[in-house]
Amino acid sequence: MNLNLDFFTLRSIFYLLKPSETYFDKVENVPDFTSRAFNVFFSFIIIEQIILVYRKRKIMFRLNDTISSLSAGMISIFPNFYFRKLHLVTYIWCFDKFNIYSLKYDSFWTYLVTFLLVDMAYYWLHRAAHEVNLFWAAHQTHHSSEEYNITTALRQSIFQAYGGWIFYLPLSLFIPPSIFLVHVHLNVIYQFWIHTEIVDNLGFLELILNTPSHHRVHHGRNPYCIDKNYAGVLIIWDKLFGTFEAEKDDEQLAYGLVHPLKTWDPIHAQIFNYKYIFKKFRKCATWSERFGVLFKGPGWLMGTPRLGIRENLPKIKYPIKKYNVEVETWKNWYIGLHFVFTLMIFTILPKIRQNKEPFLITLNICYTLLCLTCYGKLLYNKKSAINYEMFRLMINVLVCILNAPLIQIFMFQSNILFYIFTALNTLSFLAFFIIVLITYSKV
Ligand SMILES: [Zn+2]
Ligand SMILES: [Zn+2]
Repeated sequence: MNLNLDFFTLRSIFYLLKPSETYFDKVENVPDFTSRAFNVFFSFIIIEQIILVYRKRKIMFRLNDTISSLSAGMISIFPNFYFRKLHLVTYIWCFDKFNIYSLKYDSFWTYLVTFLLVDMAYYWLHRAAHEVNLFWAAHQTHHSSEEYNITTALRQSIFQAYGGWIFYLPLSLFIPPSIFLVHVHLNVIYQFWIHTEIVDNLGFLELILNTPSHHRVHHGRNPYCIDKNYAGVLIIWDKLFGTFEAEKDDEQLAYGLVHPLKTWDPIHAQIFNYKYIFKKFRKCATWSERFGVLFKGPGWLMGTPRLGIRENLPKIKYPIKKYNVEVETWKNWYIGLHFVFTLMIFTILPKIRQNKEPFLITLNICYTLLCLTCYGKLLYNKKSAINYEMFRLMINVLVCILNAPLIQIFMFQSNILFYIFTALNTLSFLAFFIIVLITYSKV
């Protein structure tokens, strides 16, 4: 397996590339910084957990929340296997049609101007994602975790990309698509490492940069945190446009949604707010109310200001109680192990795509979705979970047979490792089957 754990990728996560390393004349030549960075993020997840265990002397890891976050991250990438990214397609189209003057791609000034403008566009995009209910319906997925760690960063919405592209279009008047793409990548991946509680305060950098401390406030559901700190890389935009709020030392943060999402179902986590908006929309009596439901803030009600009334927000109750469902230890191990298998299959999807195998891509995406749904149901002890898992067991045989050569070639490049993977997969399924059989026969 090529883990891409090189120093260049590591520096790219912190936006520490020299301008000359970002000069690409064509979109096709721009590396996929985001995909390359994923392996580093997985290393960060492990390092963060080790540090947390060392500091707090107890395991801080919640399997249900972690799987929920990673599942959302995987689902959000599915459309990329079929379509080019919407923000890039629309940007190139606008650049071809409306470009007034194209800045030189290999200039420090182009680097600087693009860095600032992409970051400012991200600020407004993110602000709209919080302050316009229809956009919030997508972005709430990212905020639905009650934990705040590196895995939270990967919790993304499948729908967010379809609203955000508009904010970048003005840049196409003079910035070449290749340079725009570089900075969109760097802007996005910079924001991953700031999802952590292990970094406290970064001194003078807090004045300029978006830091873990500033972004913790953004994820807080304490009333003082709502609609604050929208920054991507530079916190200066929040200070400039009046949305900055510093972290308070004397108030413990509660993370997640104001009305927490009480489920581990990965599909529900993506769509539940659309359902809620649809219900609210149908009950509206007037068109001004309907407009408000779609385009004003999520906290808006008839007769209130655009973003609702801050004083009406529910106060945090201490000690903070997070949504949790206790499941048997063996089930946690089983879900954890199979989630790793699913993750492994997921990592070969880009290779299958390069091989132009649309049937296999679709099969694997459907199978991955089924796996994630099963884990979600098992994690909150849904009655139907066992039936779902049995169905997955049957499908798994077919998927394994069809994927076997690809898994062998792309993932392991070694027969022994492949056999270990297959044996573990099959044996754990059999173990599950037997445990369920014994449990059912006792009832
Ligand atoms: Zn946000
Ligand atoms: Zn975030």
